[in-house]
Amino acid sequence: MAETKTAQMIYLFEEGNKDMKDLLGGKGANLAEMTRMNFPVPPGFTITTEVCREYYRLGKRFPDTLKDDILEKIKILETKMGKQFGGSDNPLLLSVRSGAKFSMPGMMDTILNLGLNSQTIEGMIKRTGNPRFVLESYRRFIHMYSDVVLGIPKKRFEELLTAKKAKYGFKEDSQLTPEALTELIGEYKALVKKESGKDFPEDVREQLLSAIEAVFASWNNDRAIIYRDKEGISHDLGTAVNIQSMVFGNLGDNSGTGVAFTRNASTGENVITGDYLVNAQGEDVVAGVRTPLKISALKDQYPDLYAKFSELAKQLEKHYADLQDLEFTVEDGKLYLLQTRSAKRTAQAAVTIARDLVKEGLISKEEAVMRMNPDQIDQLLHPYFSPEAKAQVLKDGKLLAKGTPASPGAACGKAVFTAEEAIREAAHGNVVLVRPETTPDDAGGMLAAKGILTATGGPTSHAALVARGWGIPCVVGCEAVSIDEEKGEFKIGNRVFPAGTVISIDGGTGEVIEGSVDLIYPSDLPEAAKEILSWADEMRVLGVYANADNPKDAHRARALGAKGIGLCRTEHMFMGAERLPMVQKMILSAGEAERLKRAVDRLESEAKDKKGMIQELLEKTRKELETPWKEYMENLAALKVLQKEDFRGILKEMEGYWVIIRLLDPPLHEFLPPYDELLVEIERMKLTGGDPVKLAEKEKLLEKVKSMKEFNPMLGLRVCRLGIVFPEIFKMQVKAILEAACELKAQGVDVKPEIMIPGVGHIEEMKYNRTMVDAMAKEVFDEKGMSVVYKVGTMIELPRACTIAGKLSKVAQFFSFGTNDLTQTTYGYSRDDASKSFIPVYLEKGILEVDPFQVLDREGVGRLMEMAVKEGREANPQLEVGICGEHGGEPNSIAFCHHLGLDYVSCSPYRVPIARLAAAQSALREKSAKEYSNK
Ligand code: PEP
Ligand code: MG
Repeated sequence: MAETKTAQMIYLFEEGNKDMKDLLGGKGANLAEMTRMNFPVPPGFTITTEVCREYYRLGKRFPDTLKDDILEKIKILETKMGKQFGGSDNPLLLSVRSGAKFSMPGMMDTILNLGLNSQTIEGMIKRTGNPRFVLESYRRFIHMYSDVVLGIPKKRFEELLTAKKAKYGFKEDSQLTPEALTELIGEYKALVKKESGKDFPEDVREQLLSAIEAVFASWNNDRAIIYRDKEGISHDLGTAVNIQSMVFGNLGDNSGTGVAFTRNASTGENVITGDYLVNAQGEDVVAGVRTPLKISALKDQYPDLYAKFSELAKQLEKHYADLQDLEFTVEDGKLYLLQTRSAKRTAQAAVTIARDLVKEGLISKEEAVMRMNPDQIDQLLHPYFSPEAKAQVLKDGKLLAKGTPASPGAACGKAVFTAEEAIREAAHGNVVLVRPETTPDDAGGMLAAKGILTATGGPTSHAALVARGWGIPCVVGCEAVSIDEEKGEFKIGNRVFPAGTVISIDGGTGEVIEGSVDLIYPSDLPEAAKEILSWADEMRVLGVYANADNPKDAHRARALGAKGIGLCRTEHMFMGAERLPMVQKMILSAGEAERLKRAVDRLESEAKDKKGMIQELLEKTRKELETPWKEYMENLAALKVLQKEDFRGILKEMEGYWVIIRLLDPPLHEFLPPYDELLVEIERMKLTGGDPVKLAEKEKLLEKVKSMKEFNPMLGLRVCRLGIVFPEIFKMQVKAILEAACELKAQGVDVKPEIMIPGVGHIEEMKYNRTMVDAMAKEVFDEKGMSVVYKVGTMIELPRACTIAGKLSKVAQFFSFGTNDLTQTTYGYSRDDASKSFIPVYLEKGILEVDPFQVLDREGVGRLMEMAVKEGREANPQLEVGICGEHGGEPNSIAFCHHLGLDYVSCSPYRVPIARLAAAQSALREKSAKEYSNK
């Protein structure tokens, strides 16, 4: 027989506290804390997460003594409340709610009004004198229980409800009379009998135990699993179950229920916000089925009650030193708190609140930095509509409707009506999920959508909460929208649109627009974020540079806090439409020119003390060289003029900061048209009798492309190998960099160029290029009659480079880890193909935990890096070491770079703020780990 744990399985609320989230889950721990603080919390108890884990370990069976333990705690509740569970006189009713360590809003199950049966409803009716309320509660209970515990689809009950309302001509649920409700309950029970083969349970203990088991089971429902995958929450934690005495918000107009935030969870403004529904029960607000009133309505209606509520809310916020998300119920004028938790919030609210809490003395700057999530910082740079484009579409009458703004950011996409469609269509383009309201079942579709639009619900509805948490633009409560899933269309006002119509939504204003609107990706951060990042800058050890290839990106990077350029990829400057023909001409002459040049050099050294044939050959080769060399030099000279302008722009933009410029990296054929395309074009020209001169040119180009084709271009004639085979290209670039630097310096600009040689794997490759750079520098400085400080270094992107780091660092003044190539060459995975071919399968089968091209592989690539840093620095203590592969902007990889003691990380301009934050968090984590180990 399986062994059963004997640790405490159940905690009364008064036995726990807020720090027991592991065991009691977030909801349970906070209910315990509020109980301890003497807040008005209906009594209850929590079954621990450990019991849930044990339930699964035992093959979905309760531990032996759990049942007795539960019934014992029920007795305590009965005494406290003066009610009996299952009693016909004054029955105790319960709510049974899930509650994991980390909040998973609406993903697991909840049952309300548990304890009602044909006897207890009589008692309740006698007590309350309100048969309508009791029958309505019973109806809801049967509906919820049958869905959650018996697995009978909700829809079946909804159909019966709709039919009943239609029969009596009622619009709202609240209009149902006791007679109609009695009929409906009879129909619900008949449905249960038909579907499950059994009567709806009358035994309240059976109801309770089955409900607890269903909550445990809901830990592993599909939507909960999707949510945990997305949020990176472990699947092994399990959920606690909270059993609590019911209080009723649907007792009449003197009752109600609401959800509130202690500050505005969208903007961060310090005002209580939320939704309130009169005469309604628990889930009605969150489910978004009725559009609620603003919490301020409560203030107008019941000022004393609101004053009490806001006082408690502020106390809780202070106690937790964080924005709280509260659920409350008013039963016959008496306020109860049913939940408090740290609220999900938009990125904008997160930075504003963290900054304000520091100013209010509630948290430290370090705490504020640690609380920021790199993803939130990312969201602050989310797209919004171009004001001009938006003004135009509004002028054109494209504004379709306005709903409640629920999660900021703008999105355009095809309207889809179901989560499944959203997932399917998102593979082909952007989609906006349009729903009456969302439920936790829609999680996958919400995640796939660029934006979410709902017809009902307020800013605390499910759609709003989830969208804010995930940074998806969202508009809710847009009542003008009605969806007809069956016909595959939606209506706005009296206009009808088929599914697939492109719409745009603005989650910051609530606007819904027909067609697409140009998006702008912001280049600046809100003030609160800047302030927190400036604190982060003081806490971090790692420098943060940016990868930028043009003055505009450099400007943006600098504005976002980059303190240098870690990688300027010069090939991007070769790609511009007006430059490409020049580059192509240069390439066409380069091969022949360099080959003949090498022949001349060889013959010159052989001919030194020989006469006759060798001399003649030398002369002949020199002659042959003249034309291609001239062409090569002329094209290079023209390119140099442009390159110099590029470098001048970047160096000037980054005045005072180091700018690492990498010499040409890709194989030259990347600048030529693809072989197959050329072939087709030539065939077409031949068939249509095209211009013979042009045809001859194309044929020459085809020959060239053919001759340059490689089986493995990424391992072929690229990086420093290119500069050794075609030294004139590298020389041109070095001269362009240093001439630009000298000219700027002459104008008083503080320039700091660093020249980076890509793909070095052999010490001689580095020596060759270092010698070349220094010789070019001398030439430029002699010519200009001045000099600038410059450095020469290498990328470390081959395992061999790591193994000879000690030798390399004597010739290279800096290392920059090119972890895109280093990952490719260490794993032997093609960086261009792996992520779309086998890596998804590897992830699915658990061979790899993460894509190593996104998150740095510490075990393999990281080990090589560690070796290179150690041996490189041992040989050259002045060696500067950074990273410029994509990993330089990824928080987990940044933490590793901090651990390795790199000098800086370099990433794309938009990721600079993320890197600043992640670098500070790494330093703070290290500090607190050290403090912990010193204790
Ligand atoms: C790298 O390989 O990591 C790198 C930064 O260079 P590129 O991506 O241009 O090859
Ligand atoms: Mg590379």
